[in-house]
Formats: sequence, C-alpha cells, structure tokens
Amino acid sequence: MKELREHAKELLEKGEVSAVIGYSQVSEKRTKPIIVTDPQDTDQLVFNEYCLNNLAVYLTKARIKVSCRTKDKTLKLAVTAKPCDVHSVVALIQENQIHREDIHIISFNCHGVAKDFGFEFSGDNIASKCINCETHKPLYFDKIFGEEKETPKASDDAMERIQEIERMSHQERFEFFKNEFDKCIKCYACRAVCPLCYCQRCITDKTIPRWIESSSHMRGNFAWNIVRAFHLSGRCTGCGECERACPVDIPLSLLNRRMAIKAKKSFSYVSGRSLETPTLVGSFNEKDNDELFM
Ligand code: SF4
Ligand code: SF4
Ligand code: SF4
Repeated sequence: MKELREHAKELLEKGEVSAVIGYSQVSEKRTKPIIVTDPQDTDQLVFNEYCLNNLAVYLTKARIKVSCRTKDKTLKLAVTAKPCDVHSVVALIQENQIHREDIHIISFNCHGVAKDFGFEFSGDNIASKCINCETHKPLYFDKIFGEEKETPKASDDAMERIQEIERMSHQERFEFFKNEFDKCIKCYACRAVCPLCYCQRCITDKTIPRWIESSSHMRGNFAWNIVRAFHLSGRCTGCGECERACPVDIPLSLLNRRMAIKAKKSFSYVSGRSLETPTLVGSFNEKDNDELFM
C-alpha cells in the first residue's frame, strides 16, 4: 500500500500524470473508485480483494471531466488496474479510444477479488471470473506491486450454467432468456459500468428513428439485451462488471462469456490480450469461419 501511494504521489508531483484513478477504502470490506489529482490525497489509495470495480471505464468516461477540472488538454492518466482490467485497457487502445502513451498502468499480482462487498473473501465469496483466471499477472503494466498468492478454491457455477444452456433446445433457451430479460428495468447500469460501452450516443437513446423501445417491455428488453450482447461480441473482456451492476440479477455474463468462447473457438481471438493484434470486428480475413452462428 505504501509503495502504491508513494508511486502515485511521485507521478502527480512530477506532473507525469494529471490524475490517478484508483480505489479508496469505504469500510473494512468495501472500496469505491476515486480520482486523485492532488498529491496530498494519494494516501487514500488502496488495493485489496475488495477492489471490485473495473476502473478502465473511467479512461473514456471520466476523461473529459478530469480534463475540465485540471484544465489539462493533453491529459495523461494513471489507472490502477487488476490484470483482468488491463485487458479492458488494451481493448480500448486496440479500438483507438485511448493511446498507450497517455495511460500509465499501475497493476498488481492478483489472486482474486470478492464477489460481493461486505463478506469475507473466500472460496464462497470469490468473483466467478477469478476461478479460472489465466492472467494473475498483468500482460501490460508500467508499475507492478503485490506478491503472488494462491487463489481460494471454488467451482465456477457460470461455466456449468453455460454448458447447461448449451444442452437446451432452441425453444428452452429462448424461454430461459425471455424470463431473464423480462426482469430488466432499463436502468442501463450494465452500460454505464462497461469499459467497452463507450459510445457517446447509444443506439438505445436514439429516438428518431427509435430502434429500441425505452420502456421495460418484453420486446424492448429483448432487443436491448441482445443488441448489447452483439455489440460486445468479440470485444467483451469478461470483467463481469455488467452482471455485478445489474440490480435485478440478470446473468449477463452467461451471454457475454458464451460469445467470448465462440470468438476464441472460431477465430482464436480473445479480446484485450495483445496490443499488436487488430480487433476481431475491425479486421477481415478471407479464411474467416462462416459458420460462426451455426
Ligand atoms: S480475474 Fe484474475 S486478475 Fe481479475 S480479479 Fe480475478 S484473479 Fe485477479
Ligand atoms: S460486457 Fe460486461 S463483462 Fe464484458 S467488458 Fe462490458 S462490463 Fe465487462
Ligand atoms: S443493468 Fe440489468 S436491469 Fe439495468 S438495463 Fe442492464 S440488464 Fe437491464
């Protein structure tokens, strides 16, 4: 913690970054995102198993706000990013939303984060994405902290549920998602927390023509959730933030993870893993698999 705070302070004092996006402690088992622009405030920064938020979301959405606050137009930001959140940073760079040279990545050797705030971090309270995590070390970083530790043992219910849904008939699958999407209240929290949902004007906000019904009607709910899943396919990095933020517990990661599995199987592509690789949806190869949705 001490090293993290000293590093952040030095970055701000030397003017190497205009702001440090990180976590601050709210209570013993809860943190919240914080954007630090004053070196004196860096003593609020923490990193632990309760740093659930994916802060990459602020690299696009908070950029304008920080730019106004600091009057700095050539903004360079430092972001505290778990190794899986680094995938989101990489995906944003791949999609030309940010430039690598404008982002200072502070990362950690990570053994997992809690599923829910307020409860002990253990095999019973571990985020599903951590159970089969393949990148406990960040693939890209400018500064790394933390010791390697063992991840608590747990089983991945989400993977079991994906397999269960795969075994369903088309009709059963339709009914399953219809029932889930019926619960949607169109709060758009899933969109707000997603680093890859960065469009300044989302299709669902357009009224002339209106592509997607804005009321939480079954037809509009279906359109919204399916359109979002397609817009994220081959792009979602699997951070799980959309599902965590959903107030009615729609298992959004079942769709997103299924799409990611398909992208990997069909195109050997995993989003946010390589700065040298073009995006899946932004590249074309004559040998591409035509049977993606079969
Ligand atoms: S998925 Fe991996 S990198 Fe991300 S929080 Fe879990 S253990 Fe850490
Ligand atoms: S769709 Fe969900 S899991 Fe995928 S990047 Fe966005 S917030 Fe993360
Ligand atoms: S967070 Fe959940 S309830 Fe809100 S719009 Fe997204 S899917 Fe619907």
